[in-house]
Amino acid sequence: MFEFTEEYEPLLREVREIAAKVVKPRAKEIEESDEFPVDMANRFFKEGYLQILIPRHFGGMGKDITTFCIVSEEMAKVSASMSLLVIVQSVGTLPILLFGNDSQKSEFCSKIPKDHLVMAFCLTEPLAGSDVGSMQMTATKEGSQYLLNGKKNFVTNGGVADQYIVFAKTNPPRGRRGISAFVVDKGLYGMTFSSKDDKIGMRGVPSCSISFKDVPVSKSKLLGEEGEGFKIAMETLNRSRPAIGAQALGIAESAMEISTLFAMRRRQFGKPIAKLEGMQFMLAEMATMIESAKALVYKAAWHLDKGLPHATKYSAMSKFFASDVAMKITTDAVQIMGGYGCLKSGNLERTMRDAKITQIYEGTNQVQRFVVAEQLIKEFLEKYGTGREWSEFI
Ligand SMILES: Cc1cc2nc3c(=O)[nH]c(=O)nc-3n(C[C@H](O)[C@H](O)[C@H](O)COP(=O)(O)OP(=O)(O)OC[C@H]3O[C@@H](n4cnc5c(N)ncnc54)[C@H](O)[C@@H]3O)c2cc1C
Repeated sequence: MFEFTEEYEPLLREVREIAAKVVKPRAKEIEESDEFPVDMANRFFKEGYLQILIPRHFGGMGKDITTFCIVSEEMAKVSASMSLLVIVQSVGTLPILLFGNDSQKSEFCSKIPKDHLVMAFCLTEPLAGSDVGSMQMTATKEGSQYLLNGKKNFVTNGGVADQYIVFAKTNPPRGRRGISAFVVDKGLYGMTFSSKDDKIGMRGVPSCSISFKDVPVSKSKLLGEEGEGFKIAMETLNRSRPAIGAQALGIAESAMEISTLFAMRRRQFGKPIAKLEGMQFMLAEMATMIESAKALVYKAAWHLDKGLPHATKYSAMSKFFASDVAMKITTDAVQIMGGYGCLKSGNLERTMRDAKITQIYEGTNQVQRFVVAEQLIKEFLEKYGTGREWSEFI
């Protein structure tokens, strides 16, 4: 079985306790009300989970991607939405941590923990989802500021967040190389928020569309250089995709546990259904998929923490594999519970709805496969160069 090294054990115990004692009792209500749980956000700030990657000298937890994944996984076992709350906060913080200048870092990285700033990440648009380079939103320079015009979709934490990382084109003819990233305050004139999306899962953490009409943003809010926006988005998502994998893993583990317990208790044909071969095959496959996904998620996290060269490949692999596993396992878990799996009171169908979303956000699983294949080709060319003969490999 997979085990963490000793240094992670105290944190793992602590997160499990918070998840069980604080989050689990609220999970059903958060799901049913679909209201943003301010009490959970405040508690997570207190525990450090919403400033997990921010260095200690700014008041953050100063932890690594492995820790980020541990918190995401453990929270997802009791509430996928509360795991999303942790993840999206880091997705909105990473662009500043990775590309902010000293003054941006000291301003925002201190304010996030101190003033409990909630973050959001605005990349997707109505006409630009997977194809980020086709985004239409523009940022036009006007004296000492930029004017933002366009629309963003599916902004998680939209409306509740205090700061928004917004991607817009400063040089539209350059396609993806013309994208820049800005830190935008919630209250700016010209920003309008739609009502929240009525989603199939991850309820309680809202998403919405945001329209920008001549929204003035000071030049000092540009992250990195003009034209670096695509790189900023990809470097951020590289680091958060294993956490989505960990979230999916937590969802799958929870579904497996509930359905195993059910299979041991439910009797048909004179014995527990867990003793029927057809059920045993399903349980065995579920457990094997979980172990494989866990190994891949934490391998990706380890590659990122060590700054190893193939981190992008493992990050994309972990996201698509673990979320596909979660979809398969949650669907099978419902199957194992038969009619009872279809009842909301069974607490299981929620895992299936949440799992579906993990296959879609942070880059769909089709796009992740595309990323992995591109990385494989790159690695092959680095290793062997071009012009090698077919006969050399057979
Ligand atoms: C709950 C939720 C929260 C979200 N939060 C955020 C957020 O905070 N910030 C943000 O910016 N975005 C967010 N998103 C948006 C999410 O990242 C996008 O939905 C996702 O990237 C896909 O974009 P799309 O929905 O426009 O689908 P499209 O890109 O239109 O894709 C539609 C289908 O076509 C497939 N497809 C597209 N291109 C290819 C290709 N080259 N090869 C094969 N298949 C392809 C896709 O895989 C998909 O199956 C969120 C989405 C959801 C559901």
